[in-house]
Amino acid sequence: LRRIADCLREVFGEGVYRIGDDEFCAVAEKVDYKEFAELVERAAQRFLDEGLPASLGPAWRERCVNTESLLDLAGDRMRSAKRGRHRATDLGVDLASDAAVSNLLRPGGAREAVRAGLFTIYLMPQASSATGEIVGAEALIRFRNQERKLQALPSSFIPALEDMGEISSIDFFALSEACATVSRWHQEGRTAVPIAVNFSRRTIGDKGFAERVAEVVASYDVDPSFIEIEITESAREDDSALLRRVADGLRSGGFRVAIDDFGVENANFALFTQLMFNVLKIDKSLVWGLGSERHTMKIIRGLVNLCDDLGIETVAEGIETEEQYRALREAGCTRAQGYRLGKPQPIDEFERRFFT
Ligand code: C2E
Ligand code: MG
Ligand code: MG
Repeated sequence: LRRIADCLREVFGEGVYRIGDDEFCAVAEKVDYKEFAELVERAAQRFLDEGLPASLGPAWRERCVNTESLLDLAGDRMRSAKRGRHRATDLGVDLASDAAVSNLLRPGGAREAVRAGLFTIYLMPQASSATGEIVGAEALIRFRNQERKLQALPSSFIPALEDMGEISSIDFFALSEACATVSRWHQEGRTAVPIAVNFSRRTIGDKGFAERVAEVVASYDVDPSFIEIEITESAREDDSALLRRVADGLRSGGFRVAIDDFGVENANFALFTQLMFNVLKIDKSLVWGLGSERHTMKIIRGLVNLCDDLGIETVAEGIETEEQYRALREAGCTRAQGYRLGKPQPIDEFERRFFT
């Protein structure tokens, strides 16, 4: 606790208070958002350097009229960050024995790992249902656990990093890699295909998200039409206003917006009236019902027709069998994605296999 207090005082100066057994509150006055974010980053870095297992919950207001509500917000975020580390343990990641993932799942760990080059993206092909040609790819993040030479799947760390509020460094890393890849394809004179990048709901809620995406893509001199932004809608969280604002911002910047995982868990039809988007990705759980559930084909066909009428492209995910592929072609789905067409693979393998 003393060492944590020392770190906080180093960064925030005098405005550090102990408000509970193991809780501190640091107040930064008269700073703008950018300065505030830098202070938070410095504190996170200090904890990291000192190996202190502390969770941070930053909250900033242009003008603070209600201290209590600001403290509540900071407390919620701090608990959510803390839960992230606990969630990692629940997910079966043994923090004590798995050094690589434990380094990842601590404050500032994701950013560190990005800098240390421990992440990479794999590309998963998307084919045109009409011609079978590869017309796109989805970027999927992989974590290299060097000791075990394993590629950790995103499900083992993404939920925890989301809870910890650390996911955006991963999302923007994947975006940068996708841009670098498209840019290289152009330079090498290949027919580049658009790459889809996943963004967590936590990331899209960050202030200035759409602008930041546009800046990154522009810095690689890549046309926004080559980047598709995948976001997930969740009926459980009422944030249609946010989704709409983000989708509008991205689309006006020339990006294509895809709604990911539409199907069973997320299947909010209000989406169609609430915002404009370019692509609907039909979740694998729905595709896997084909063949065994009689109505599934009708539902998919209905969904595809609705999207057609609205000028929305459809991508079916999780196509594993020839039978599923045929059914989705019949349903008129625009693009197909799944192990049947190609697994997520390292970029060079993707190039060898799909570019001639
Ligand atoms: P997603 O965006 O829905 O990605 C598709 C996932 O389904 C991938 O799993 C892919 O390997 C898997 N999949 C696709 N087709 C098939 C199939 O035919 N059979 C089977 N069995 N699986 C199939 P993966 O790579 O494990 O990714 C899981 C999730 O992690 C992604 O789901 C996405 O939500 C998230 N994710 C991946 N990269 C990022 C990232 O950079 N940022 C964020 N925020 N999330 C990411
Ligand atoms: Mg996706
Ligand atoms: Mg999906």
